[in-house]
Amino acid sequence: MTAEIVCVGTEILLGNIVNTNAVYMASGCAEAGMACYYQTVVGDNPERMEEAIKTALGRADIVLINGGLGPTPDDLTTEVAARVFGRKLIMDAGTKEHLIKSVRKYLDTNPLAKFTENNYKMAMVPEGSVLLENANGQAPGIILEDHGKTAILLPGPPNEFRPMFKNQVMPYLMKKSKHAIVSRTVKIVNLGESMVAARIDDLIQSQTNPTIATYAKTGEVHIRITASAGTPDEAEKLLLPLTEEIERRFGNCIFTENEEETLEESCVRLLKERVLTLTTAESCTGGMVASRIVGVAGASDVFLQGLVTYSNEAKKKYLGVNSETLEAHGAVSPETAFEMASHGCKNSGTDVCLATTGIAGPGGGTPEKPVGLVYIACCIGGRTAVKKLNLSGSREKIRTQSAQHALILLHDCILGIADFSAVPDVKGVVK
Ligand code: ATP
Ligand code: MG
Repeated sequence: MTAEIVCVGTEILLGNIVNTNAVYMASGCAEAGMACYYQTVVGDNPERMEEAIKTALGRADIVLINGGLGPTPDDLTTEVAARVFGRKLIMDAGTKEHLIKSVRKYLDTNPLAKFTENNYKMAMVPEGSVLLENANGQAPGIILEDHGKTAILLPGPPNEFRPMFKNQVMPYLMKKSKHAIVSRTVKIVNLGESMVAARIDDLIQSQTNPTIATYAKTGEVHIRITASAGTPDEAEKLLLPLTEEIERRFGNCIFTENEEETLEESCVRLLKERVLTLTTAESCTGGMVASRIVGVAGASDVFLQGLVTYSNEAKKKYLGVNSETLEAHGAVSPETAFEMASHGCKNSGTDVCLATTGIAGPGGGTPEKPVGLVYIACCIGGRTAVKKLNLSGSREKIRTQSAQHALILLHDCILGIADFSAVPDVKGVVK
């Protein structure tokens, strides 16, 4: 079974937006075991759009068409697709009701806004089509089937498109596909890509089915194992021995085997499992760590407060860092990081305090303390781990990497595998 992708939008052709939806659909097709030989981008022009859709339907069994389902005159995908399939457009009562309801919600909060008739355009769907619910917007997805050919129309905005694709289109593709492809992603911290690759070199060399590949991410390495079989269950069985072998080789460096789970989600999960509360005390990351934690649904169970203590005064006032420590060692020092975390933990009354302090640049560096020198610290159960980082790159990159390493340290501290031995000599610290 083959699939093809057609993305509609002049803004993609002009380079105004990146075609991330095509990436998402392409990996979905691969996961569903669908061969995808062509991707097309076409502007908001009805003749060229019709030609692109007809060409794709001539080659593939299933054509995924993205964008142009909205209410404005340049949103032409539904009417062009209906024409290709020889269907009339009819008003769908359920969609009309859904859009009146959601527009009313919007009007209630925006006194200046008015309901416009063009909204009804999104409730006009090809006769005999199957509709996909749009939980985050108004235009439904549309499935058109005829003589063994299928077109699936999907909205352009990623927040509408992604959940619709994942929850409704993927099961549809899986059902149609003759064979299943199942992947597992093992996510690793504390080791670089070359180290990871070297440790599984024999497995990479001898791969057939499952296949195995490594991907370097910021502060993480992902190993993706993919098996292909007649059914998802058979593919899962093929994955199992290789996954166990990888677990044996990487142990605690693995923070998750769930493709969807991020490092911060894994940290929040671990904090919840161990009933621990968290404070963040950030200097150079300026709230990035807190923001990543707050991005996790349900973070409020564990995350009580995030302090951005940028000045020395704030470090003293809100965290209880000693003036002598700051004077003797400076704000960017293992001693200050240690106190930010350990005194921050005591001051806030939480079980864990995660701290960052460093020189993000581009200015402010000295030969002794160059740009990219960052200390991160984490206090948990009365013990504090401090780690020195020598980072490089732009201010943004240094800050992003600092936040990532802070979360890795948090992960390692919760699991008790961090190095707690490097305790700086600081007066009056909780050791
Ligand atoms: P709307 O109701 O917003 O008009 P639509 O289904 O008509 O939605 P488009 O008008 O094509 O979709 O695109 C709306 C927005 O969705 C674009 O401005 C862009 O931000 C995003 N978008 C569209 N296509 C893509 C794509 N292929 N990849 C990533 N983002 C996209
Ligand atoms: Mg549009």
